Amino acid sequence: MDEIRLLSDAIANQIAAGEVVQRPASVVKELLENAIDAGAKNVSLIVKEAGRLLIQVIDDGKGMSATDARMCFERHATSKITKGEDLFAIKTMGFRGEALASIAAVAQVELKTMRAADELANIIKIDGSQIKDQSFSQGSQGTDIAVKNLFFNVPARRNFLKSNPVEMKHILDEFQRVALAHPEIKFSVYHNDTELYKLNSTTLSKRIVDVLDNSYKDQMAPCDIDTPYVKINGYIGKPQSAKKTRGDQYFFVNKRFIKSPYLQHAISKVYEGTISEGSNPFYVLFLEIDPKHIDINIHPTKTEIKFDDEKTVYAILRSAASKALGLYQLSPSLDFDADININRLNSFFNTAAQVNTVSSNANTFKYTGDEKSTPNQQNWQKLFDGLPQRSLENQAMIFESKANQIFEDINQKPEYDEKSLVQIHGNYILTQVKSGLLILDQRRAIERIYYEKTLKEISKNGGLCQQLLFPKTLSLSPALYLLSLEIADLLKGIGFNIEDFGQNSYLINGIPASFGQVDEVELLKDILEQYAHFNHINEGNSKETLAKTLAKKHASRMNKNLQIDELKSILNQLFETAMPNLSPSGQSIFKVLGLPEIAGLLI
Ligand code: ADP
Ligand code: MG
Repeated sequence: MDEIRLLSDAIANQIAAGEVVQRPASVVKELLENAIDAGAKNVSLIVKEAGRLLIQVIDDGKGMSATDARMCFERHATSKITKGEDLFAIKTMGFRGEALASIAAVAQVELKTMRAADELANIIKIDGSQIKDQSFSQGSQGTDIAVKNLFFNVPARRNFLKSNPVEMKHILDEFQRVALAHPEIKFSVYHNDTELYKLNSTTLSKRIVDVLDNSYKDQMAPCDIDTPYVKINGYIGKPQSAKKTRGDQYFFVNKRFIKSPYLQHAISKVYEGTISEGSNPFYVLFLEIDPKHIDINIHPTKTEIKFDDEKTVYAILRSAASKALGLYQLSPSLDFDADININRLNSFFNTAAQVNTVSSNANTFKYTGDEKSTPNQQNWQKLFDGLPQRSLENQAMIFESKANQIFEDINQKPEYDEKSLVQIHGNYILTQVKSGLLILDQRRAIERIYYEKTLKEISKNGGLCQQLLFPKTLSLSPALYLLSLEIADLLKGIGFNIEDFGQNSYLINGIPASFGQVDEVELLKDILEQYAHFNHINEGNSKETLAKTLAKKHASRMNKNLQIDELKSILNQLFETAMPNLSPSGQSIFKVLGLPEIAGLLI
């Protein structure tokens, strides 16, 4: 006797539902995405008992016809793709046509939907895949879908759910992702009749502040880059905004939230040395890429995707993030040399004007020989299509300056012209670079130089000591004394020769040679006090904190008016450091004012 039978649709749906609907938050995600795909401008989410009792999404999108309202619950019923090729050009959030079928298999669903042209709204009630009722009523354009008693027919699943606060947290995570990706859409969220969110349509930066954390307001660095392969835009947090708790870290690819440890790595590399270990900066970054270069199909809940050229995305992202933070450096371990064809990257930037002519396969990007060859005029023309009329020379200048700036970003050190070095007001150093004028904050540069020097000394115990003829005593408050015990060894490493003298005091036998003539007692006391101050602020790594303290101390003691040789030496040493463009406390050290910007200033 033959034994194989086809499963009934209801059972098949219930089995498949396991993949799509793991918990209430999965339903929230699918329903919100459907509302977005339907072009909604206003979306409300209503939840009861963390989604066990009710998950309802009301939108003012395009709605469905009577037939579609029935059809949408069928497995593989979708309006979003029709043919095989469509899979490679997906612009919508959904495309599998599985969500509603899966949800309806494990819950009681009521759908009310109406299109603009319809007189009446369609109502459908479904219980575990069985249509119970279809009727009409008054309504307005859009869709209102209520998912009740989730897993009513799958007790194992229901028992598997976590506490309400945990399930609610998952729901809000999903909500936040959707809300961040669509700042133009108004959202409201209610849980057990309490309003949790009411978001107006706004800009991305405002939405980030509204959804994530109000204190991010002053901490955002815009991060944008535009290459033919991928466009990136969004915001990343300044180093000061990093939190000890799990960070607010979001990548979106074509507005779809994704998880990517690989891209995450690119970002954390950029922050290296500017934030203490274990703290997390926030970022909300949108990558826009031709769908044919990605595969979103590899994961049923679609939070992982594959790029056909992951390394290039990595490099471009890293470059954009460094630029956003004002970090011109790319550390020596940078995978550019190892894995990335730097020429190809350059050719991305150089072909910025040729978006339309780029070959469909990213791997066929070719570096076309001479690095300095000027892009042909036709392409310039294209680049400036739509911009106000400008003279060709002016366009050429902007283009070249842009290319140079980007080039200077990838290369560690801008080529500056020593002959043009000047210091102004005892605070700033100016010099000519390829693309314009480099303006540098002298004090911050000195802090960066001493910071790295001190870190090295600490790790090698390599600080030179100048011995005092007559030892001096330093008495401290009990609190400061306690703190000093924590770093006594580090202090010795950088060249202090000190002995515990009992009663909260030290005997100073020697100080770091780099300080020259100073009041030794004042010096050590100052350093301890400043250390206490920084330690209070960033409770971070004590070596970094001490290095930061020393750097500040050195910078404050430097003679402000420097000779030309000293200026040169600052620039040279600065560009030897790992992060030439960020002071130890996270401020920009220099900026390049491009020639067009200068020209613009003088209009
Ligand atoms: P998918 O989104 O992958 O197409 P779903 O099961 O989520 O699959 O939805 C099936 C279809 O139902 C969609 O393709 C769409 O045509 C329709 N639909 C679902 N939700 C809505 C909505 N809120 N507004 C309009 N149409 C919707
Ligand atoms: Mg869907």
